[in-house]
Amino acid sequence: MTDNVLYYLEPALFFIIGCCLGSFATFMGHRIFSENLSVLGKRSICTSCNKILPKKALFPLFSYIFCKGKCLMCNAKISIRYPIIEFIAGLGSLYAFISWGQSFKTVVIVVLITCFMIQIVSDIEYYMASDSVDIVMLIMVIMLGIIEHKKILDQLIFFIGGALFMLCCRQIVMWWIGKDPLGLGDVKVVAILAPLANSALELVIIFGLFGIFGLIFGVLWKKQTKSEIFPYLPPILMAFSIDYFFLAKYMTFFLQKT
Ligand SMILES: [Zn+2]
Repeated sequence: MTDNVLYYLEPALFFIIGCCLGSFATFMGHRIFSENLSVLGKRSICTSCNKILPKKALFPLFSYIFCKGKCLMCNAKISIRYPIIEFIAGLGSLYAFISWGQSFKTVVIVVLITCFMIQIVSDIEYYMASDSVDIVMLIMVIMLGIIEHKKILDQLIFFIGGALFMLCCRQIVMWWIGKDPLGLGDVKVVAILAPLANSALELVIIFGLFGIFGLIFGVLWKKQTKSEIFPYLPPILMAFSIDYFFLAKYMTFFLQKT
């Protein structure tokens, strides 16, 4: 009986921790480049009425459901983005636990997922990626390299390859449309994450996925916001996540078979 409870309790706990980290990520992503709000400042506030949110509104995921997607004080609509990011962070943590159990690798992955979420929020809200979060991501990628016994030289080549690919794309599009489509922040993030790939083929697949997701996300973004500027980090980080969590496993299996 106790074993049975533990069997479900542990994954549930990882899911809840992930949701809380997702909530932390939206808080950080929203404040990191804000001129009025400090990261270390007061508790979460409503973005419409600027009042401090009551405790009831602070539970990740559930608060959105309890409050029916509205601010309890001013009735303003709360963006669906918040519960979605909390849910994805929860699922990511749960998946990490299922894949790697109670290990140091799981902790590193969960931190990496949280960094992804902060970067996505700050890119969507300010079209910028945080350098401090980039440094944390770099440390996590280096740690994963050590855990997975990757060769330093390979990782360095992927790092440079990732940066060069993005710089080439940037240059081509700049010649083509006459303006800078990709910020240097996006180039840095791709260079930092490129060593997550296990082979050159995997890196090419990640770039392909980035192209597909970028196109879909770009069309939806333009339709929704009518903005000419576009946040590239959501499709970039989606491509890396799908590769690392799913494709890498099956590709290793497939390559071993052939
Ligand atoms: Zn409000």
